[in-house]
Amino acid sequence: MGRKFFVGGNWKCNGTVEEVKKIVATLNDGKVVEQDIVEVVVSPPFVFLPLVQSLLRSDFLVAAQNCWVKKGGAFTGEISAEMLVNLGIPWVILGHSERRSLLSESNEFVGDKVSYALSKGLKVIACVGETLEQRESGLTMDIVAAQTKAIADRISDWTNVVIAYEPVWAIGTGKVATPGQAQEVHFELRKWLKEQVNPDVAESVRIIYGGSVNGANCQELAEQPDVDGFLVGGASLKPEFLDIINSAT
Ligand code: PEP
Repeated sequence: MGRKFFVGGNWKCNGTVEEVKKIVATLNDGKVVEQDIVEVVVSPPFVFLPLVQSLLRSDFLVAAQNCWVKKGGAFTGEISAEMLVNLGIPWVILGHSERRSLLSESNEFVGDKVSYALSKGLKVIACVGETLEQRESGLTMDIVAAQTKAIADRISDWTNVVIAYEPVWAIGTGKVATPGQAQEVHFELRKWLKEQVNPDVAESVRIIYGGSVNGANCQELAEQPDVDGFLVGGASLKPEFLDIINSAT
């Protein structure tokens, strides 16, 4: 079976109740390709998750933007995987570059989070990607492989994992990777999974691209053989998110 196209919308730390309701209304009114062609998951801030979940069309699901690395308890300000499961939140984004850089989340810490979230029954969008400096030093695959290895060392079942390749230099910058650049890393990452994990995982795991994807550039990216969808930031707050969903191939 082929890999089903996956489109995630990362709303980051944005929105008011009114704005969130408006975004959901736009999504609910939108005409999109069928559910067996594309899987759509939107990720509002924690505080809006129940609201979005209650209003959102039933063919779209929700994701949290993070969760704690182990069982909840005395961890002020954190949200546990158990809490997300308790609320019926199916997905979580882990290892986003903003958390890796601003909150110093290491590869090992992200790997531990992925492992714990999966063990509690959550599905995970695991983010990897290099900085501009790393790319210019020719280190792209070393960085992406090390980030993926920290996850691979801690999990054995990849069924509920989507890998988001998000070059840091392309996130929120308007500087999208060319389709060729995205395809090259996705191909290399799949090859790495084949050699270091196993051929079945390499063939089945979805590798989605994130970094300044919008309604105008999504189609050409979506046509790349190893690009299985998108993780979208800024444009997921706008009506063009529907066009991105409809770029599903
Ligand atoms: C993101 O935050 O995951 C992202 C890809 O952001 P943007 O689309 O705004 O670059």
